[in-house]
Amino acid sequence: MSSVNTAIQLITREQAASSTAKGRATASTCSPALARGPWDYDLAEALAGVPAYGPGASVADLAPASTPRQGQLPEEYKLAGDAELDARIRAAKATLGDRAVILGHFYQRDEVVAYADFVGDSFQLANAALTRPDAEAIIFCGVHFMAETADILSRPDQAVILPNLAAGCSMADMADIDSVTECWEQLEELFGTEPDADGRVPVIPVTYMNSSAALKGFCGENGGIVCTSSNAATVLEWAFERGQRVLFFPDQHLGRNTAKAMGVPLEQMPMWNPRKDLGGNDQQTLQDSRVILWHGFCSVHKRFNVGQIEKARAEFPGAQVIVHPECPMEVVDAADSAGSTDFIRKAIAAATEPATFAVGTEINLVNRLAAENPQHTIFCLDPVICPCSTMYRIHPGYLAWVLESLVRGEVVNRITVEDAVAAPAKVALERMLAARP
Ligand code: SF4
Repeated sequence: MSSVNTAIQLITREQAASSTAKGRATASTCSPALARGPWDYDLAEALAGVPAYGPGASVADLAPASTPRQGQLPEEYKLAGDAELDARIRAAKATLGDRAVILGHFYQRDEVVAYADFVGDSFQLANAALTRPDAEAIIFCGVHFMAETADILSRPDQAVILPNLAAGCSMADMADIDSVTECWEQLEELFGTEPDADGRVPVIPVTYMNSSAALKGFCGENGGIVCTSSNAATVLEWAFERGQRVLFFPDQHLGRNTAKAMGVPLEQMPMWNPRKDLGGNDQQTLQDSRVILWHGFCSVHKRFNVGQIEKARAEFPGAQVIVHPECPMEVVDAADSAGSTDFIRKAIAAATEPATFAVGTEINLVNRLAAENPQHTIFCLDPVICPCSTMYRIHPGYLAWVLESLVRGEVVNRITVEDAVAAPAKVALERMLAARP
């Protein structure tokens, strides 16, 4: 199976050769602009003066003004072909040896994952880096919040590097510290801060791992906790033991799907719209709530719908439909099972007989699972090739640049979380590690 990038290049070439389809997206890829180098978007943003997520799943989402931007990549890396970049990356990696560790997220393109020392989800990777104490540099081929988490957990003398600073996350950007603080103040005014007769405080803040370090720090400071998609139910139980209700951000879908599976009625899960007073709710609704859901979502996982599941079942009777809990509730309800990337991987690994899996998660991961498990038929529920826009901003050219800079003794694109944020963020992460089912 060819990589997502190779498939996009082929589709776009065929498209360019066809005068009828020229210039517009086909049903096979969400944007023909994906075939271009990410540096084109770095430059376009610099010229326009506003950040954007670039082509891919988040293209229609608005990037906040505070989104980091990438300066121009030196010309030699833009002009280098695949073979030259491959040789340069391998040579720089060999020269650096144990001084550098490369982390590749599951959703990262194959052309970058090929050089990773570890491949995993964001928290697995941050922990994997801890097993390389000799590494002076941790090169995180993922997105911004992941690099921040790695910086929080690593030693101060280790530099965490994000090869393209424009690799943010549209979901993480949907909850910023100012909006969450404003929400918190309104909730404190409404509920007060006194615990009830059982010692439970009015609200516990819970942030998904896919959030800025500032929000993790906010949770650490306010009796809250971090969760991943693997442990969200355990974390919510932890929070319900300590609080009458939960403020869950930024992903409404993970919060809703997890709480619903735990028996929380939908009417006790109001949504908080940060642009409206009381999040767009009346006081009684908030008083009666168990989980207040932030108005955020993953641009990749919101693409999945029930129609895709129905089509997959019609075309492949007996197919097992597995989706990520960042998908909308209707999709999770219609699937056979839902769970984190780790859950999906284990479910496929557990199948002893050849089987068909229709998977609702990011396309790079699904294609990799298909290649690793040729005995099974594995395909993405979304028939359109549409990778995570921000993850896709990392290209081998950027990896070659950061590695060769390190060889010259220069650290570029370092991600640093200031101590005042890192310390409480670590508290929230440690609470998560200590929470047990
Ligand atoms: S897949 Fe979704 S949550 Fe993950 S980095 Fe991309 S936009 Fe963010």
